[in-house]
Amino acid sequence: MNRVAIVTGASRGIGAATAKLLATKGYAVCVNYLSRSEQAEAVVAEIVASGGQALAFQADVGREQDVVALFDATEHAFGPVTDLVNNVGVLFTQCRLVDMDVERFNRVMHTNVTSCFLCCREAMRRMPDGSAIVNVSSLAARTGSPFEYTDYAASKAAMDALTKGLSAEAAERNIRVNGVRPGFIHTDIHADGGEPGRVERLTPSIPLKRGGHPEEVAETIVWLLSDKASYVTGSLLDVAGGR
Ligand code: NAP
Repeated sequence: MNRVAIVTGASRGIGAATAKLLATKGYAVCVNYLSRSEQAEAVVAEIVASGGQALAFQADVGREQDVVALFDATEHAFGPVTDLVNNVGVLFTQCRLVDMDVERFNRVMHTNVTSCFLCCREAMRRMPDGSAIVNVSSLAARTGSPFEYTDYAASKAAMDALTKGLSAEAAERNIRVNGVRPGFIHTDIHADGGEPGRVERLTPSIPLKRGGHPEEVAETIVWLLSDKASYVTGSLLDVAGGR
């Protein structure tokens, strides 16, 4: 089977590292992004320069018609989609739940959970038997992220439930569905929360005494998609330095 992967939110961070690693393993990759076309095109250029196949595609994965267009474009370019990484995730300025407005809460749930649901549903409608999905959750699903992002933590816990439930349904077709829960990874996302140095602040609380790199999360995602993880489904794997 030709392996064709969609990685959502792949212009930067964990998604970009995953797209590049998948390409080195022979996957044709769709690099989805929201607005940073130059960064997405740079990921594609790096893959193509190394002899791989990639396509950049703008789509807001919280919108149903965009998700359909994303799958259409990938299929048109490379053939049936066999692998999906639901990597998109957003968070906003750190605050207590009591100070959060409902617009923010709904935006986080929509971008993080509805997008995952829409992409999983589209994948289940189109993917051949034997395909694989990885949902990028967070350590926050276990901790609840008090004083920072309880909305984000709730969205990630919802993704974990979706992963569990869908994995049992998809097993009938030998489609595996797993989750990864990164801890503190060096990417832009912490600046979105208002604290670019968050990983450094929290380093003393991490048993391995350092933040993680996007490439380390990508390795786990790519392993879960691969046939090497052929008996793994419905699993939620922490990539969090021991936290
Ligand atoms: P990031 O560096 O902030 O990158 C976010 C990516 O998502 C970008 O490619 C962005 O596109 C894209 N995006 C945002 N909204 C989108 C939408 N509606 N439709 C399509 N694409 C959208 O993120 P990251 O830190 O690599 O995180 C990746 C995943 O890991 C997220 O789910 C995050 O929650 C999870 N995670 C991260 C950490 C960490 O410490 N970094 C820890 C736990 C979990 P543009 O570039 O076009 O804006």
